Amino acid sequence: MLDYHIHTSLSDDSETPYYEMLDQACRLGLKEIAITDHHDPDYNDPDYPFQLDFDKYHMMLESAIMDYHKKINVKRGLELGIQKTCLDKCTACAKAYPYDFIIGSFHMSCGLTIDMPEFYEGRSGLEIQESFYKYMLECLKEYNDYSVIGHINIVDRYQHLFRPGEPLNPPEVMEIIRAILEVVIYNGKGIEFNTSSFRYKTPITVPSPEILKAYKELGGEIITLGSDAHSPDYIAYNFKYAIDMLESLGFKYVSSFKEMKPEFIKISHL
Ligand SMILES: [Zn+2]
Ligand SMILES: [Zn+2]
Repeated sequence: MLDYHIHTSLSDDSETPYYEMLDQACRLGLKEIAITDHHDPDYNDPDYPFQLDFDKYHMMLESAIMDYHKKINVKRGLELGIQKTCLDKCTACAKAYPYDFIIGSFHMSCGLTIDMPEFYEGRSGLEIQESFYKYMLECLKEYNDYSVIGHINIVDRYQHLFRPGEPLNPPEVMEIIRAILEVVIYNGKGIEFNTSSFRYKTPITVPSPEILKAYKELGGEIITLGSDAHSPDYIAYNFKYAIDMLESLGFKYVSSFKEMKPEFIKISHL
């Protein structure tokens, strides 16, 4: 098993040192893990600036690789917060170090953080959805320095919380999502199955089965499995559910990454 989305205390929203995360991954028998701490160049919350100290981060990654090489394969990862205002900064970060794997995530959209109620006020559910996914599409038409899109429908999870009952991914929104997936596939990138939604106890999976179906229909093959764990308890959390869903939709492989290139692992060999 492998987990391609974990955070350590170098992310503003985690307090767990990397060795505690890796010790737990070893205890669980994982073969490979990608450390993917947050860097969100234009994030605007002073309580959570999400600005990585890259010298420290890169030193930590190298120590982790060296100290654990007999126990678990550690990949040099990063979770990069994409916004239209900082595409150049994102590229500069992505190129400044030999990462194996970069998650491109949208934690803000049109200047607003998407986990705050303000994002969901004063407009209909459809307007919220259209704005979030159109923004993502516009960014991804220009930006290409990532491996997979992180938690692609994260807006659905929060919308479900702040605006319960509003429809998620109606046909006009699925059109935009399909256009996003086409760009992702055309550029040789992928998406992740992010199991963090299970720990928030929502019925929304990330991605939804509809998005996974569309991805498959369009020829998408690259999918990573990520728990988005910020503490040891959630490493590889509910991966069985994710794998069963992927298999039921006809996916046969999940991806690992080396030097930004995908490799494919048979689900039956996990
Ligand atoms: Zn994220
Ligand atoms: Zn994350």
